[in-house]
Amino acid sequence: MIDQNIYDTDFIDDQLIEGLLAQPSEPAQVRDVIAKSMAKQPLSIAETAILVNATQPELIEEILDAARTLKREVYGNRIVLFAPLYIGNLCINDCAYCGFRRSNKEAIRRTLSMDEIRDQVKALEQTGHKRLILVYGEHARYDAKFIAETVRVTYDTKIPKGEIRRVNINAAPLSVEDYKIVKQAGIGTYQVFQETYHKPTYQTVHPAGTRKADYLWRLHALGRAMEAGIDDVGLGGLFGLYDWRFELLSLVTHALHLQAVYGVGPHTISFPRLKPASGVNLDEQWLTSDAEFKRLVAILRLAVPYTGLIMTCRESAEMRKELMEFGVSQIDAGTRLELGGYTEQQDIDSQEKHKEQFMLGDMRPLDEVVQQLLRDGHIPSFCTACYRKGRTGEVFMEYAIPGFIEKMCTPNALSTLQEYLCDFASPETRRVGEQIIEQQLALMSNESVKQTLQGYLQRIRSSDDRDLAF
Ligand code: SAM
Ligand code: SF4
Repeated sequence: MIDQNIYDTDFIDDQLIEGLLAQPSEPAQVRDVIAKSMAKQPLSIAETAILVNATQPELIEEILDAARTLKREVYGNRIVLFAPLYIGNLCINDCAYCGFRRSNKEAIRRTLSMDEIRDQVKALEQTGHKRLILVYGEHARYDAKFIAETVRVTYDTKIPKGEIRRVNINAAPLSVEDYKIVKQAGIGTYQVFQETYHKPTYQTVHPAGTRKADYLWRLHALGRAMEAGIDDVGLGGLFGLYDWRFELLSLVTHALHLQAVYGVGPHTISFPRLKPASGVNLDEQWLTSDAEFKRLVAILRLAVPYTGLIMTCRESAEMRKELMEFGVSQIDAGTRLELGGYTEQQDIDSQEKHKEQFMLGDMRPLDEVVQQLLRDGHIPSFCTACYRKGRTGEVFMEYAIPGFIEKMCTPNALSTLQEYLCDFASPETRRVGEQIIEQQLALMSNESVKQTLQGYLQRIRSSDDRDLAF
């Protein structure tokens, strides 16, 4: 039983965080923390602060190097791929940074019908996607029953060799009862981003009287989700509203809080950077520079070694390529933010500001992203096995141990990549991908896993058998 008083507590201690950020760190301390992290132990807030306060160029390099190594050791060279599907942009809130906010009269409002959702899902399946995140504004129309229905429609929509096997959600915070309704539809991760953990900034960008102005209701959104039995949740902060260092320590505080109270840390953390949006004119004082952004991703990787890090198409192709090296484990690809954009947007290079939530940095189609990942030495993965085999939450944490990747994640990444290559890839992507699969097979030391995988790959190439997972 969760003590209900927990929901009235503010576990983000501004004074503590600001105090930690004011202490310069010594090189020896930084190296000790790096060593702890390389032993794959999660860091405390004070230890994370030591990394944040390391400003000498050589120490920053050591942090980036350590993150690069840890990423390879914990996640291997897989990058999990997904796409967002915007369901509706009606919104009762007035977030200063968002193109969907209610006072933005330029926004073109739309909610997809169930038939329109089916059309979007089919278009995404046609490109090869297996994992989606459904995104909603906050509105009475998008209640728990509606969200659950959109999830069911997404799962039920299939084309030959195409299906969505995991549906994640990014929507407004719900009550425990409402989370239970959404859970029954079989969702993967439920994401709620706190945006900024800094209370004065939070109150400035979320005007009083709006639902989102309630800081604590949002801060405990994912705790309530866990109480409702959703053990797979995603944290996030919108970087550019306040000092990135404060937000970073707060994200780690939040992750530790969930671990302490509910026994499970977050499955993922997202760290979107603020992008230009329709009618948005924000103070640029806190915009996170590229150099700061790299540090923040690397430090997050070291602080929470078993939490997936998500980076979206808000970032440019170049930035995504770089950040994948030292921390990121999931990216979206072929993304369209416009409602109905997977079937209706004619010119893929054009973006219409008034129909979208913000502007994208990477507009490449999925096949191009997959090919680039392969050329850069990554294994693009469409794997959804853990969630479907019940390996989530606490159980997943147990699996997230050495050996698990070699026995399950890499083989599953390769079998889902093989499906993609056979069913959806361009001839050149297929050629490069088949080479990578052969190289990866040659590297496998576990003979029994290798043999099973070879059997799966053969069946995928020569028959209609699909969804063969470890
Ligand atoms: N309406 C729900 C909410 O606010 O939680 C969920 C959907 S909202 C469309 C998803 C996320 O987009 C927000 O949590 C915010 O972090 C991000 N976002 C909003 N405006 C943005 C902007 N201008 N640039 C980058 N990300 C933005
Ligand atoms: Fe609405 Fe979410 Fe945009 Fe805020 S961030 S205006 S709640 S869609």
